[in-house]
Amino acid sequence: MEPGFPPSPLSIYIHIPFCLSRCGYCSFYSLPFSKTAMQEYLGVLLREKQLYQGYLQGTLTSIYLGGGTPSLLSAGQILMLLEGLIINSDTEITLEINPLQITCDYLSELAKTPVNRLSIGLQSMDDKQLAWLGRRHRADQMEQKISWCREFGYRNLSLDLIYGLPEAQCEIGLQENLQAFLSLKPQHLSCYLLSLEEDCALAAEGPSLPGDDQLSLQYYTICDTLSEAGLLQYEISNFSLPSHTAKHNLAYWKSSDYLAWGASAAGWIRPHRYQNPAGLKDYYHNVKASILFPEAENCSLEQEQCDWLMMGLRLNEGIRSNDFVQRFNCDLPASFWAKADQLERLGMLELGSGKVALSKRARFVSNSVIGELIQCI
Ligand code: SF4
Repeated sequence: MEPGFPPSPLSIYIHIPFCLSRCGYCSFYSLPFSKTAMQEYLGVLLREKQLYQGYLQGTLTSIYLGGGTPSLLSAGQILMLLEGLIINSDTEITLEINPLQITCDYLSELAKTPVNRLSIGLQSMDDKQLAWLGRRHRADQMEQKISWCREFGYRNLSLDLIYGLPEAQCEIGLQENLQAFLSLKPQHLSCYLLSLEEDCALAAEGPSLPGDDQLSLQYYTICDTLSEAGLLQYEISNFSLPSHTAKHNLAYWKSSDYLAWGASAAGWIRPHRYQNPAGLKDYYHNVKASILFPEAENCSLEQEQCDWLMMGLRLNEGIRSNDFVQRFNCDLPASFWAKADQLERLGMLELGSGKVALSKRARFVSNSVIGELIQCI
């Protein structure tokens, strides 16, 4: 089944599932890296790109190379992947990069590609935390590595931070960790709560994780500290300097269309969601059989409206009823507004001139607040 093709703008997510080793907290689909496996995978990705050529007529808004560890691609392989895609100087092209791959040699080659944004898997500036998480870089290497990124022209740097680790695994406090992140002067920060799924190695240790009150305190410490430093929160977990919000992630939160290539990658071309198989064998088989938009699910209007609200409400700016009307050609139902009024009285929402946004105190419990609202659609 092939969805009707979307209006521009369009984004593309490209998934690279290989990693050098498995981090203890990871439950993503990831496979051991080898040059041969990567080369074979790249060949299939290029073939997948070819399958979608007819749909790539407009200038792309963003391209995101995620994983896994996409920085295990050589610059030459990245060039092959991006070749022929229509981009301009506004197209954001992000590479998730493991600090281990931030070397002068790699960056000097990478600078020859159109990649213009690096999302760095730093996670912590505390060596004890890094060791527990199974990350192989060290905090004291980062100043030099970030400075190399800038020397090679990368001015749009995003850092990942994980919070909510067991106290016993922390050498330094959260404030000290945040200050160390800020000293690196990133343009963007993504902050994630540690979540240990049953199948990850660290879950087997049964670590003593902080309780909800402690986590809420940590979350708001992060929000306040970063905003005082000029990194403004624009989404539940994301902070940036003005004009450095992530275009690619905004495409998700605004329910814009995006293609997805690579094993396990999931795309959204209105009104269809689709997903490639996670296993390489099935993924390779699909691409070789020229199957476009595998497992495409035709979303009902109601599902699409719920998804639009669920994603949009993650943004600090929230959603606007006019945008809903424009997108779906109908008004938000009265039941939605009744629930929104109720949640505003409880201090969980901010309402005004057709705008609906989570209040600051609702951000830590966003899933339940958004869940209550979308039940009314
Ligand atoms: S956390 Fe990232 S780098 Fe670590 S194993 Fe998982 S996908 Fe790979």
